[in-house]
Amino acid sequence: MADALPQRMKAAVYHAPHKLEVEQQPLPALGPRDVLVDVSHCGICGTDLHLVLEGMGRPRSIGGHEYSGRIVELGTEVSAWARGDRVVARPGKPPCGRCEFCRVGRTSLCATRDRLGAEAEYQGAFAEYVCVHEEQL
Ligand SMILES: [Zn+2]
Ligand SMILES: [Zn+2]
Repeated sequence: MADALPQRMKAAVYHAPHKLEVEQQPLPALGPRDVLVDVSHCGICGTDLHLVLEGMGRPRSIGGHEYSGRIVELGTEVSAWARGDRVVARPGKPPCGRCEFCRVGRTSLCATRDRLGAEAEYQGAFAEYVCVHEEQL
């Protein structure tokens, strides 16, 4: 039987240049094709440094997109993964498959891609748990 998940988690939240605070946050809500990962490790990428040190972060975002961990919860439509699977993930959400970049195979430039804390809503892995779409695993 799976251990019950906590209601809240610790996360390093960006507030302003050079200012991150470790705070209690609710666990991220899962969409039907998302999984919840119990983060074991998270690297600090150059992007994270730009977001924090140069103030490119969106206030209240949570950085961290190079991580590993174990799946602890599955969205209702996820079938190819199971609780306990050890995973790594590509950053952000899946490419749209329809924009001008996706249509020529340059999915890393997808017009809808997450900016990993700079613009779009992004909750990363500088936290105890992170939500990620199954296609990114
Ligand atoms: Zn990176
Ligand atoms: Zn696209």
